[in-house]
Amino acid sequence: MNRADGRPTEAERFLIVYGPELASYSFGPEHPLQADRYVLTMSLLSSLGWLNATEIEFEAPRFATLSELMSVHSYPYIQAVQQGQAISRGERPPADLTFYGLGTSDDPLFPNMHDAAALYTGATIQGMHAVVEERAIHAYSPAGGQHHAQRARASGFCIYNDSAAAITIALQAGMRVAYVDFDAHHGDGVQDAFYDDPRVLTISIHESGQFLFPGTGDTAEMGKGDGRGACLNIPLPAFTGDEGILSAFDRVIGPALRAWAPDIMLTQMGVDAHHTDPLTHLNATISVFPKLAVRLHELVHEVCSGRWLIVGGGGYDPWNVTPRAWTAFIGTVLGRPVTDVRLPEEWLRASRAAGGDPPAFLLHDPGPEYIPLETQDFAPVLEEVEETALAELLAHIRT
Ligand SMILES: [Zn+2]
Ligand SMILES: [Zn+2]
Repeated sequence: MNRADGRPTEAERFLIVYGPELASYSFGPEHPLQADRYVLTMSLLSSLGWLNATEIEFEAPRFATLSELMSVHSYPYIQAVQQGQAISRGERPPADLTFYGLGTSDDPLFPNMHDAAALYTGATIQGMHAVVEERAIHAYSPAGGQHHAQRARASGFCIYNDSAAAITIALQAGMRVAYVDFDAHHGDGVQDAFYDDPRVLTISIHESGQFLFPGTGDTAEMGKGDGRGACLNIPLPAFTGDEGILSAFDRVIGPALRAWAPDIMLTQMGVDAHHTDPLTHLNATISVFPKLAVRLHELVHEVCSGRWLIVGGGGYDPWNVTPRAWTAFIGTVLGRPVTDVRLPEEWLRASRAAGGDPPAFLLHDPGPEYIPLETQDFAPVLEEVEETALAELLAHIRT
């Protein structure tokens, strides 16, 4: 898949769907979700010179159409989002939209909410089209990954479910899809959208719902009806670190994907499992993300001819951690060595100007306060998943 120097070949067309207008998805300066997480990721990848390769192509995002949004969301909900946008712009009188999860503390109204959410959704759909139609082998939608959005309700900072809309595109092309979600929060919206659909395998590895929003993602959630066995959850105990995440990949996620053999894979690469993330209690270091990139990249070439769409997700230290974690992940997919990479001075200045204080090297991690708290508690969870959800998945493949 790669040439001798480790860089992808010219045939490995890698599409990035991105534009600065995606930063207009903003719940305001006090909200945990900040567009800086992908703005600073793109500027870091660029300032390292990693985007100057012939195999990398760019497309500006377009808005998802109404029919694309309606493949996932109810029409009254879409109307409510548009109403919320108009209210926030002062074009309509105030109204209570909390029935739709809008105007809440997690998802407050903002002046561009429908347009910006339709734009990140369009970006992810574009990436999926490119991979399905083989205009690119891998595609990346940095602003996507809004996995909590439900059919008729905003949830957890997410308005439209871009991954679910993109999966629908692949299904229409007759493909079986594997969705793998590394965000520290359970990928509930995508799981719910395809819970009874045998053509979509959803895998979510996350901090247990006993401790963290949205509270779902138990091992017992394995799909229903025809979709039984095509849903797998790995709820990690709080303080699980790199060892637990990589063990879960090697023992459960890799074997599940190899057995299920999708035609295309979508990876939600939330990086809020990092130990300094202010919203979660997992204990990953930056170094786990390039290790996951190596495993996933090998796997997509092995099981689905390389067809791979990568989207963003959570990450709530948007200046110090999230851009470095994503740059280490994407850089590894692009075949760049990521160890001992000094961060460019121009990027450090931009991060500090935004409010950060990042270390000087890409993978440098431990702050002075960092004490590895990895416990072995994850082992019983992995055993349980092997004996229940993984066994269920394998049984359905064999029948
Ligand atoms: Zn590749
Ligand atoms: Zn998250």
